Amino acid sequence: MTMRRARLLVMNAALGPLDYRVPDGMVVGPGSVVVAPLGPRQVLGIVWEPDKLPGTDVADERLRPLHDVVPVPPLRPELRRLIEWTADYYCASLASVARMVIASGGALRGPSTITEYRLSGGAPERMTKQREQAMAALEGEQATIRELAAIAGVSDAVLRALVNQGVLEPVQVDCDRPYPRARADFAEPVLSEDQREVAAKLVDAVAARKFAPFLLDGVTGSGKTETYFEAVAEALRANRQVLVLLPEIALTEAFLRRFEHRFGTAPVLWHSSLKSTERRRAWRAIANGEAQVVVGARSALFLPYAALGLIVVDEAHEVSFKQDEGVRYNARDVAVMRARFERLPVVLASATPALESLHMADTGVYERLVLPARYGGAQMPSIETIDLTQEKPERGRWIAPRLAQAMADRLERGEQSLLFLNRRGYAPLTLCRECGHRFQCPQCTAWLVEHRLSARLACHHCGHEEQRPAKCPECGESDCLVACGPGVERIADEVAEIMPGARVALVTSDTINSPEKAADFIAMAEGRAIDVIVGTQLVTKGFHFPELTLVGVIDADLGLEGGDLRAAERTYQQVAQVAGRAGRGAKPGEVLIQTRHPEAPVIAALAAGDRDAFYAAETDARRHAGAPPFGRWAAIIVSSEDDAEARDAANRIGNTRPNLDDVTILGPAPAPMALLRGRYRYRLLLNARRSAELQKVIRDWLGALNFASGVRVGVDIDPYSFV
Ligand SMILES: [Zn+2]
Ligand SMILES: [Zn+2]
Repeated sequence: MTMRRARLLVMNAALGPLDYRVPDGMVVGPGSVVVAPLGPRQVLGIVWEPDKLPGTDVADERLRPLHDVVPVPPLRPELRRLIEWTADYYCASLASVARMVIASGGALRGPSTITEYRLSGGAPERMTKQREQAMAALEGEQATIRELAAIAGVSDAVLRALVNQGVLEPVQVDCDRPYPRARADFAEPVLSEDQREVAAKLVDAVAARKFAPFLLDGVTGSGKTETYFEAVAEALRANRQVLVLLPEIALTEAFLRRFEHRFGTAPVLWHSSLKSTERRRAWRAIANGEAQVVVGARSALFLPYAALGLIVVDEAHEVSFKQDEGVRYNARDVAVMRARFERLPVVLASATPALESLHMADTGVYERLVLPARYGGAQMPSIETIDLTQEKPERGRWIAPRLAQAMADRLERGEQSLLFLNRRGYAPLTLCRECGHRFQCPQCTAWLVEHRLSARLACHHCGHEEQRPAKCPECGESDCLVACGPGVERIADEVAEIMPGARVALVTSDTINSPEKAADFIAMAEGRAIDVIVGTQLVTKGFHFPELTLVGVIDADLGLEGGDLRAAERTYQQVAQVAGRAGRGAKPGEVLIQTRHPEAPVIAALAAGDRDAFYAAETDARRHAGAPPFGRWAAIIVSSEDDAEARDAANRIGNTRPNLDDVTILGPAPAPMALLRGRYRYRLLLNARRSAELQKVIRDWLGALNFASGVRVGVDIDPYSFV
């Protein structure tokens, strides 16, 4: 079908739909990605069905012609409907959602090659220390000069000199060279009876090519991954693409190895720190159908798959699937919608499902598949609490005697222990003993966290860093600054003190910040070169260390503080997940939970191993509060660099609030994070019954108002954090 005129969704949130003339000889249809003139500039756009994108009809003779069609496959109608749904549901602009689809500028250019370099085997005319180091570091590497310079830790100029002397040789690389093929039958696993039954259902669902949402509910260590790999294999056989979403892309190392073991090659990776050439290659392979299995962070969900056949959301309860900036979407929910538009199965896998997901299973919307036992006959760990008000650690310490003793026993037996504290750095607060001065971030309502490894005070919200001063900046005294409370660095120090011979590994996003470091850590833990692992939430999932038999939770009460609507649920999930690291091999596991509130329902449920009791109590509390899944929440966040401007805008929103029976509106009030990255913040909270047309209410309300140019008004539907 040729079109005389085309309506465009343009990649600029400030602009509405625009109409253009299609020049003679140019062929476009809905979904085509095109370049169009906009004033003196050019703009990228997607051709859209005019009835789905109402605009003002401009007379034919006033239309400007499209410039060009971008050489990529048109976006399929299923994806266009997903873009519309996402924008509508999350009160975002179509352009901002479409930008997540067109996520690689480089991919839009046609075929191309780049020049990479590698060692030729030759020697330089004159060997210097720097050259020697660079050559040692570049052994086996091939990349662009800039990337090689980063690997070798030298300047571009050093490497250019080596190119001129023939030590580094150029290699022309096709940017779109194909990925190695994964093979469904590479290494067929031996599954347990439970796993076989569940796998068969998933395989059938892939073959049926219909919308089918599953909740794969299996205890930690039950082999969920191996089970859904059978569905992945079925998709591979049918030449359909698979998307696996993982919450923590820095720690996919363990997953990649399992995948390669099963299918003979690594999957295609997608995450925010890909190099632009890798991004381009992945995007184009996804769009033309050559990428068979894509493993990625939440942003992989919006890519233009040519022939998707299965979506898996692993660790589906994880909070990191919720994006809190830009388009504030929840990838778990959007994954289900994408599966619906594309008519395919979606698997939400978790040992501790979100309450919302369990509710969907209980009401029959999702099919629930259960793996009730650990694979290979391993037992679930025993769990006990340590009441910190009764069994106090020594002064200035955080590990209670009973936990310390249990660790010493493990060390003696050559087994491993893991200590969990979800707090990076050495201490969460530094204060002056003389005058009480507290170190605060100049841009945020937050204390600066001391990091001893990097000798810095850092804000975990905006990245602000400063040196820890020798004197108090307020009263000028020296030697008066005290670190208050523990972070993982401090716990690691304490372990070194109480167990001098133990080999301690610190696992946080500060120390494990690349796939290589994650791989090193896994190899050391598996090789029993580590006795004690001290870590943040990074260690709660994905790891399988057979010699790890003790897990200690340093402060189970920590997650119950702060502005989190799901605090109890998150605490339950985090502690249950980290507890699940214990005793995965032949030896039984033990978990000790330090708490000041052993009687709190969530702690009691954890100690009793009674998941059903916890979910039942939490469900009642949510029903009572009108919280999800029984009611709905939304937040309106107003911010500006100017406090008065932000407050004024928030008040105007508050003063024009609609009066509705089924929506309660609270605020405006200063947000708990009243200052974030230099912006003053106010917020309103909406609590709606399920019957309310929440998004329409918000759109009509905010759409009638205009704000000063420095004001940002964000809408968060189904928020996770209330800060
Ligand atoms: Zn002072
Ligand atoms: Zn800050």
